[in-house]
Amino acid sequence: TQVYFNGRWVAPEQAQVSVFDRGFLFGDGVYEVIPVFAGRSFGLMEHIDRLGRSLAAIDIREPLERHEWIAIIERLVRDCPSPDVSIYIQVTRGTAPKRDHAYPNPPVAATVLASASPMAALSETIRREGARAITVPDLRWARCDIKSVNLLPNIMARQQAVAAGASEAILVRDGMALEGAASNLFAVIDGALHTAPLGPHILGGITRQKLLEMLRAQGQLAVVESAIPLDRLFDASEVFVTSSTRDLLPITRIDERPVGDGRIGPVWTTLNRDFQQMKTEQVV
Ligand code: PMP
Repeated sequence: TQVYFNGRWVAPEQAQVSVFDRGFLFGDGVYEVIPVFAGRSFGLMEHIDRLGRSLAAIDIREPLERHEWIAIIERLVRDCPSPDVSIYIQVTRGTAPKRDHAYPNPPVAATVLASASPMAALSETIRREGARAITVPDLRWARCDIKSVNLLPNIMARQQAVAAGASEAILVRDGMALEGAASNLFAVIDGALHTAPLGPHILGGITRQKLLEMLRAQGQLAVVESAIPLDRLFDASEVFVTSSTRDLLPITRIDERPVGDGRIGPVWTTLNRDFQQMKTEQVV
């Protein structure tokens, strides 16, 4: 299927950036991933808003208007043969005439890519037993709230996880378990649900936001938005991570230690059921 590239619809192999694109040279760009379930996007406005915030944070003028993003996403969804789709959007500062760290002046046109790929399904083992995670030092910078394409620390952390036979790496900064390499982190401790607060040290996940909205509306489970000390993480009865492509993923082993009794727990089971229900109702 075709991809959207700088105002045109082309075959993926025809979407080619210049070697002087600042995304290629510097990682000078931002991205979004928008999940689509049964042909309908989830959290679309929140994702477009976050893209706008990422662009504003690095002074790239938003290249398209909201209705244009929406039209592009709708076409990608229509053309993708799979009902569950992951939409990828990337915007870089564009191709400057010479390599210079400072922004090109006058500004050049941003490079814009939007594409769709089928959503990967979770393995049967993970769905039955939960996933494994490892903990690693958080090597990232002090603006993790920007969804930047500079993902080296995230890539290295995730690769360490894969090499250890785990599904996610939990990033630890100053003794605090903040989030996953590509997910937000939740832990059930003394019956309350803990997660790191929004701020420069985590990416404000849309799945996290939607889950917290649901919990506030339900008013049953206590939520504590404060970073989780690593030793408290190991006391948790349940741990899970959230992301657009893996929803609420239960973590049943961390660094070879079982979480709680090492099985998928009742809090995750209830929240996941309610979240799936909300997804079918809210999807626009
Ligand atoms: N944190 C990081 C570092 C991420 O890369 C992601 C996934 N993009 C998330 C959290 C989860 O965000 P979302 O729920 O919007 O997918």
